[in-house]
Amino acid sequence: MRLLLVEDDAMLGRAVLAGLKQAGYSVDWMSAAQSALHCLQEEDYDLVVLDLGLPDLDGTEVLRWMRRNGGSTPVIIITARDSIADRVGGLDLGADDYLSKPFDIEELMARIRALLRRRTGRAEQTIHYRDITLYPDALRVTLQGEEVPMTRREYLLLQELLSNTGRVMTRGQLEEAVYDMGQDVASNAIEVHIHHLRKKFSNDLIRTVRGVGYLVEKA
Ligand code: CA
Repeated sequence: MRLLLVEDDAMLGRAVLAGLKQAGYSVDWMSAAQSALHCLQEEDYDLVVLDLGLPDLDGTEVLRWMRRNGGSTPVIIITARDSIADRVGGLDLGADDYLSKPFDIEELMARIRALLRRRTGRAEQTIHYRDITLYPDALRVTLQGEEVPMTRREYLLLQELLSNTGRVMTRGQLEEAVYDMGQDVASNAIEVHIHHLRKKFSNDLIRTVRGVGYLVEKA
């Protein structure tokens, strides 16, 4: 997941950046609207965290540009302007969520996860990988056309791995995909789910990359 953070306050920007990175997102951090617009033209982002009070242009201009250009990338506005009018204005412009400063980083993370989930949910496309098919609508999986019984967590873990083939996924990233925030996660939980997935599909479906995480090769 690649995120764009647009925030000119150095201290807040650093804190948000650290939180996002810790959650396993790759992040580009820009502190002005023009450089953010440049990034948006160059890169595809999964989500944008957008401050409104920026040194060059108002953040709403960035949002306006994105929506005018047909982008549906989710945007969370973070701003000190917290009047109802501003809130409604931001949402009218096509922001997906709105967080007033000061806010808790954990609160921002939860909103981001919710938006990304909604977005993934919106796609609802079946995922094909070799002889495995995932049906996100129903959290169902088939192997060579035969339904494979799965727990919800196994399903989410497999979906995350198969949506990121060719990339090594860290345990933290996988936990993020499988567990809700604040849930206690046993340190070997992902390992246990991986073990079950290997038994249900095949031993060599998921590779362990020692000291880093897990990898499913590109199909
Ligand atoms: Ca600002």
